Parts: sequence; structure tokens; C-alpha cells
Amino acid sequence: MEALVDLDPRPLRGEPLSLDLLNTRWHDEQLFQQPQGLAIWLASNGLTDRAPDVPETLDALLQARAALLALRADPRDTAALNAVLAHGRIRRTLDAEGLPHDEPEVVDPVWLPAWLAADDYLRLLARGPARIRECAHDRCILTFFDTSQNGRRRWCDMAHCGNRAKAARHYTKAKS
Ligand SMILES: [Zn+2]
Repeated sequence: MEALVDLDPRPLRGEPLSLDLLNTRWHDEQLFQQPQGLAIWLASNGLTDRAPDVPETLDALLQARAALLALRADPRDTAALNAVLAHGRIRRTLDAEGLPHDEPEVVDPVWLPAWLAADDYLRLLARGPARIRECAHDRCILTFFDTSQNGRRRWCDMAHCGNRAKAARHYTKAKS
């Protein structure tokens, strides 16, 4: 049997969890509308054993995704994200070896992926809000966290959108 992660059809994967949740939408497609969409997303993010593959998990994720989209449109629109964050918290403990642990605790496991995604977004904001960016291609809605040294990443994927943009520029130049 093929592994679920291998069924992930999305053009951009591997971004931090919050952006990976946003990247379940691309062009005219949506991962969560496809068969096994939720199971695939959970597998892609190593969450298969931590959250149930049930409609309630998807509902919570869609709430978190809408909250993130609202924030991308207006950074002051914090209410929806805070509502998602209200479903969990971080429990800090110290183990017998003297190591500190941060353990996410949610009221219901169906909220874990959504809560983790919201929490991840806070982490990205702390690291550098300007590095959370949409692909520069006008027909691409994918989002990435720019980890490049110079902070100049423009494309979700150079091979795909970067080259499409280059080809379009070339075409316009050739025409004029
Ligand atoms: Zn793109």
C-alpha cells in the first residue's frame, strides 16, 4: 500500500505547520476536498497518531485556516486566531534528568492540529513577520516562510512559479 504522504498532491509542502495549513489551498484546488484529504494532511505533518481522522478535526482545522487567512488580510484581525488558541495551552514540566519540556494540552484531541498550527504562527511572528510571505506570482496563493540568508525568497518554488514568471517576462520583452 502506498504511504499516505506519497498521496499528498500539493505543489508546496514542508513549510512550517501554520503555512502548510494555508497551503492546503492552491490555484483552484483544495486538499481537504479530496478523498482522504485530512488523513493525508495529518500524515504529511506527522500528526497521524496524535489526532483522530474525524470530521471534528477537520472543522477545527478549517477554523484555524480561516483565522490565519483573516490575519494575512489584516494583522489586527486577531479574534479568530485567539479563539483557536483558547482550545489549548502549553504545559511546562521538568523531568527527572533535569530537562525542561513543553507539552501542548488541548481540551479535546480533535483540536490538537488546529491549535498547533495557530501556535506555530505565533512562533513565526516571533521569528520574523516579514519573512512570512505569499508567492510573488500573481496567480499563486501559496505561502512560505523565508529562511534564506538574505531574506529575498520570492517564489513558492523556483522551478515552478519562478520560471513561469521568468518566461512571462521574457515573452513580454520579446513582444515589445
Ligand atoms: Zn508560487
